[in-house]
Amino acid sequence: MKITDLKYFVYAPNATLPWFFVEVHTDEGVTGLGECTDYRGTPLLADGIEALKPIVVGADPAHIEEIWQRIFRYYTTFSGRGYISHLISGIDIALWDIQGKVLGKPIYQLIGGPVREVVPLYTHIQDYWYDGVTIDDAVRWAKETKAAGYDAIKTDPFKWQGPRDGDRHWGAYRVEHLPPRAIEEAVEWVGAVREAVGSDYELMVDAHGRFDVASAIRGARALEPFGLVWYEEPVPPESFAALKEVRDNTSIPICVGERLFTRYDFVPVFEQKLADYIMPDILWTGGISEIKKIAAMAEAYYVRISPHDALGPVSIMAGAHVSMTTPNFYRLECLHRWFDDFAKIVDPMFKVRDGAIEMSDRPGLGFELNHDAAEEFRMDPHLVNAVRTAGGTNWRKMQGARRKGAR
Ligand SMILES: [Mg+2]
Repeated sequence: MKITDLKYFVYAPNATLPWFFVEVHTDEGVTGLGECTDYRGTPLLADGIEALKPIVVGADPAHIEEIWQRIFRYYTTFSGRGYISHLISGIDIALWDIQGKVLGKPIYQLIGGPVREVVPLYTHIQDYWYDGVTIDDAVRWAKETKAAGYDAIKTDPFKWQGPRDGDRHWGAYRVEHLPPRAIEEAVEWVGAVREAVGSDYELMVDAHGRFDVASAIRGARALEPFGLVWYEEPVPPESFAALKEVRDNTSIPICVGERLFTRYDFVPVFEQKLADYIMPDILWTGGISEIKKIAAMAEAYYVRISPHDALGPVSIMAGAHVSMTTPNFYRLECLHRWFDDFAKIVDPMFKVRDGAIEMSDRPGLGFELNHDAAEEFRMDPHLVNAVRTAGGTNWRKMQGARRKGAR
């Protein structure tokens, strides 16, 4: 079998984010589905997948590790991480989908087999940083989420401290400093959520890599009474020295990793004991092949893994296959309010019951993109950022810019 083509599709049935899908086509008619959605990288991803064609077309799709290494080393001057590991992830997941289809097995049966019966999820309530959100909203959302069967919630309780000028100045507010009132409000927010869900419920706080060291430490110490599972990305991801300073000054377990790419970025996290949980993103860190390796590294340090997932339907399903096989797994992230949007474009939709995914025994990932149904949501990847910049974070404005994509 030989790879004959790579294709990409950008579909936006979701009001928050357009999803970037990759298909690997073969000369035997078997097609693999992948995804490498990024919040702002959509035009780069489209160009990157195009550029990979001469490197990947003609290869045997069963040679997954060889293809992974070939792309990674080809772009060694880009460090292979970040942008390049996004591209690799989209291809890698599609190659595993092909292998599953060829062998008639779900992916989790090819990468070690199950160590659990279902994949427990955690989900979100809306973060406090959004305009107009109140603590009463948080209490209502937390109760609704618990009642819907979810056993764990993550939230960002810290109000926005930087300039708000739509998407154009996304980078301008970093690094933020937290004034005393913002920390008091964060305590009120988390306290109200804790009271709403009860003392035995799992709660996580995400700081989204926004803060200077002093703010991150003060925020952590203020939240210590609430029995949090973890405090996520307290400082921006570039400095392990800054992370260590926060780590050394709070008793809350630390989680990092959505902006660390490939096993190499995780070496300092383990060697310097910087985190209790890691959350690599399967679409960004190098796909199924890479997250399995990172999970094994974490296992050797008795660190648990909880794949980051705030992207499209392939993201969560690829993460679920890995999570089925990973002994040191905690929970898989999800945005459960997006499941209805997934169901508009994949067939069949995966099953969620009691806050957990029940895996099917269908081969490969277990679903296909329904291109006919998705057609009305298709976007030109090169228009995405222009629309986003013009429309700020009101993503619904983007719908007017749907154009024929590069199918
Ligand atoms: Mg996060």
